[in-house]
Amino acid sequence: MYCRYCGKLIDDGAAFCPHCGSRLAEYAGGSFQTPHQAPAPQDTQQTKTPSTLATVAYVFMIIYTVLSGFFLIPLAWTLPMTLTFKNKIDKGLPVGVGFKVCTLLFVSMIAGILMLCDDQTP
Ligand SMILES: [Zn+2]
Repeated sequence: MYCRYCGKLIDDGAAFCPHCGSRLAEYAGGSFQTPHQAPAPQDTQQTKTPSTLATVAYVFMIIYTVLSGFFLIPLAWTLPMTLTFKNKIDKGLPVGVGFKVCTLLFVSMIAGILMLCDDQTP
């Protein structure tokens, strides 16, 4: 398009004439240009407020991803350890201190503490 003030060829989407500096937003298709140019700063302001929340959400997603990974993967050993423990107490087999400590650390702290405090189970 051409600047209505100086008549020079300028970009169609230009809000201001680069040659004379005149504002062209209202001229170049009013409703198209003005809302396009005006809300742009608002959009960046609006996206800045949620972006903080989005960052927090992202951090929470990472935390929950790590936690879900942390809780899902241990199922690979928490289940066998629980079954092994059940097997041992059923058969009256001694439960090693290592197993108890491992239970405390990797399965359930309370269960491990109970096992370690339990004098009945060897
Ligand atoms: Zn101009």
